[in-house]
Amino acid sequence: MKRVYTASGLPEAYLLKDYLESQGIDVVVFNEHSAGAVGEIPTTEVLPQLWVRHVDQYARARQLAQQFELREVVDGSRTCTRCDQESPTTFEFCWNCGQYFDQY
Ligand SMILES: [Zn+2]
Repeated sequence: MKRVYTASGLPEAYLLKDYLESQGIDVVVFNEHSAGAVGEIPTTEVLPQLWVRHVDQYARARQLAQQFELREVVDGSRTCTRCDQESPTTFEFCWNCGQYFDQY
């Protein structure tokens, strides 16, 4: 088991879990029942965490989690013509292969 991601809340944790599972990665959510009482500020220790069951899926899971995170933060994304990965519209270059978007 290896930790892939610490979510800001349960909805995010489950969205990412669904996403990773749809990509064939076996993940577990920890801390899902330890959310603080209303009004209590959660610490990183009690935030939901996603762990991969199989360490050999860790690198792939991390990469997908990063894509997921980028997609959440910005509104919109564009797909790289070279490597087919999505990047936020605020990026000038593809995060994955470095393709310059304004070339096309
Ligand atoms: Zn690319």
